[in-house]
Amino acid sequence: MLTIGCHLSSSKGYLAMAKEAVSINANTFQFFTRNPRGGNAKPLDTSDIAAYNDFAAVNGIGVILAHAPYTLNACAAKEDLRDFAYRVMTEDISRLELIPGTMYNFHPGSHVKQGTEKGIELISGMLNRVLFDGMQTTVLLETMAGKGSEVGGRFEELRAIIDRVELRQHMGVCLDTCHVYDGEYDIVNDLDGVLDEFDRVVGLERLKAIHINDSKNPFGSHKDRHEKIGEGSIGIDAFERIINHPALRDLPFYLETPNELDGYAREIALLRLLYK
Ligand code: FE
Ligand code: FE
Ligand code: ZN
Repeated sequence: MLTIGCHLSSSKGYLAMAKEAVSINANTFQFFTRNPRGGNAKPLDTSDIAAYNDFAAVNGIGVILAHAPYTLNACAAKEDLRDFAYRVMTEDISRLELIPGTMYNFHPGSHVKQGTEKGIELISGMLNRVLFDGMQTTVLLETMAGKGSEVGGRFEELRAIIDRVELRQHMGVCLDTCHVYDGEYDIVNDLDGVLDEFDRVVGLERLKAIHINDSKNPFGSHKDRHEKIGEGSIGIDAFERIINHPALRDLPFYLETPNELDGYAREIALLRLLYK
């Protein structure tokens, strides 16, 4: 069965998200750990988490994906911004440990004129402070579109970060279809070639999740503007190949398309229809 869900608002808690997911025939979901552009997390509600864990088990909700806020920049030039990133990651992961097996995705960061090499060093250094022995959460680096000074637009950069993380058994990658296509990986005309390259550079065993988004912009645009499935430059035929590809078909897929709940329900129904 296809494991698919979409990005949901976390404002009403875990149980509410799980119910929303079930209502649109999703069997997983993604959410922000806190305001994507802000700082503080809501108080921890352990009764909501307990209720969620029961509901998820009964309703077949698999591994879920937490997304760090966009304001988190592990390779910021300013120390106070890096401290903020450290505090957010540490607190987010300690909370996610209450839902064992959850994945935590973050944008590697923007090196802001320090250079990619320095960015990689700061990001891996941050992960070496944050990860701990015996943790249950898997931390994912997201593939980026290579906009501005973003780190993570090339598979080699993700590999270089992971290589420098001591506890790399807790690390994985989340591939965003819009980002890689904008970043000059041709998943439309050469999906096999892109996945071979990923395998060679990073290793397919590190690939843990897919952000499934169409793109508003043409191949190689380095823009990062998501489009509804089938309405952008990637197109529905490519998505049919992506969800059915032997290397991808058993991974969880997360929609981050510009939709309300009804639009997500339609995209999930369409993709389920195309899954063989
Ligand atoms: Fe993201
Ligand atoms: Fe994404
Ligand atoms: Zn994006």
